[in-house]
Amino acid sequence: MFTSNNRLFSSSITAIFFLAAFLFPVNLFSQEKSSITDIRLWESATEATIIIELTNSVKLSELKDLKGRRSFFDIEEATFKAKIKQFDLKSKFLEYIQFEDLSKFDKVRVTFKLPRGIRSQIFMLPKNEHKKERIIVFLRHPKDLLNQKAEKELEEVRKLKALGKKIIVIDPGHGGEDPGTSGNGVVEKKYVLSVAHLLKAYIDRDSRFQAFLTRDGDYIIPLEGRRQIAEKLQADAFVSLHVNSINAKSVNGFEVYYESTEGAKNEAARLVAEMENKDEFADLAASDTESDSDSEEKKSMTKTQTDEEKKKLLEKQAQNIHRSRLLAEALEKSMRDAKFGIKSRGVKREGFKVLHSLEMPSALLELGFISNQTEAKVLNLYATKTKIAHSIYQGLADFLSAPANEKLDTAYLNYMKKNLPNLSAAKKEKTHIVAAGENLSTIALKYNVSLSQLLKRNDLGMKSIIRPGQTIIIPE
Ligand SMILES: [Zn+2]
Repeated sequence: MFTSNNRLFSSSITAIFFLAAFLFPVNLFSQEKSSITDIRLWESATEATIIIELTNSVKLSELKDLKGRRSFFDIEEATFKAKIKQFDLKSKFLEYIQFEDLSKFDKVRVTFKLPRGIRSQIFMLPKNEHKKERIIVFLRHPKDLLNQKAEKELEEVRKLKALGKKIIVIDPGHGGEDPGTSGNGVVEKKYVLSVAHLLKAYIDRDSRFQAFLTRDGDYIIPLEGRRQIAEKLQADAFVSLHVNSINAKSVNGFEVYYESTEGAKNEAARLVAEMENKDEFADLAASDTESDSDSEEKKSMTKTQTDEEKKKLLEKQAQNIHRSRLLAEALEKSMRDAKFGIKSRGVKREGFKVLHSLEMPSALLELGFISNQTEAKVLNLYATKTKIAHSIYQGLADFLSAPANEKLDTAYLNYMKKNLPNLSAAKKEKTHIVAAGENLSTIALKYNVSLSQLLKRNDLGMKSIIRPGQTIIIPE
């Protein structure tokens, strides 16, 4: 399946370089110092990620620039057995990366050189059930190039829309360094990508629709990024694909999720805070040039405008939640009717970050529990995959060909009318900007809040990735 229309987001991963030959045994006798166990590089069309695996957690220095497009950072309390080694990687994002053991200072210096115009960021990925602590060096194209690409894609979407086609964005969950869950022969990131390809094929065969994938290879995309891709493509529907896993091995079945009241409320609070901050800046600018009475008048006008905007925002949300519910119901019914050997656990609601959009109806599917051995076997059958993909396509088609439904979710609207005065409080919440080397545990510790509260308030999971510069809300 490779037509020019499909190419928008299928530029895909081009290569994975493994430097795992570089694997060192863990030194049992020096437990304080962390040693580097693996270095590898993932590359997609728009970005590359160098992953440095370690035995223990470490601190990173700031990233410093040198002459000649070179940068370096130090890994504190770490050793590198090869003393010094440089890697030449065939990548359009990297010229070389060098590791040097500075044993006098108990640290390893990492120096790298980038091709012209490539930007870098470093951050830590906390360890999870499968992986140890990792340092990520994130390399990407400069913004202007990305914008040119976005412009081209938008042009194609405009043409498709002019032909009356509806756009469906499929989001295969996880990817790259984030494998999702795994067990019983299924790795989530791979499984959902293969279902996504089958689903795209079914959708594209139908002349009424055109599907796009948020990722078409094995690489990381931040959660907001997935939603933003769909919004940029002016999607008529958005579906995120996942598989589930739980300690209780007997639990089985598929689930269809759409935005929860709590999730929508948090998103509304965020948008309102943004709106009000913008107005404060406008007020400041106005007070410089106008007389007091003028700016007072302007202020009250701005306030009415903001109230009007808030009302519109909530109505838009309420309408989209209603449409998302219809989408979720259509998907659940179609999947249940397809009888592919996995029972329905019904339509549910959860404040998943990928579902916060106001622009398009969105649903998230948990296709089954891979922690259940029987279900994992069923899921792994090619016949099951095609039936799942076809039933999702059918559900989407049913939803998109139904007469337009402009109803609002009145329960949400009524709830929010009560909560509207509290919405502005959101901007007074304490926030923290992530610095290099920090992870969610160290941030929780710093502000003396529990990790679980911190995760919940920010809609993050144990496996979520945070980046330097990202804003984290500190719960009270
Ligand atoms: Zn998942």
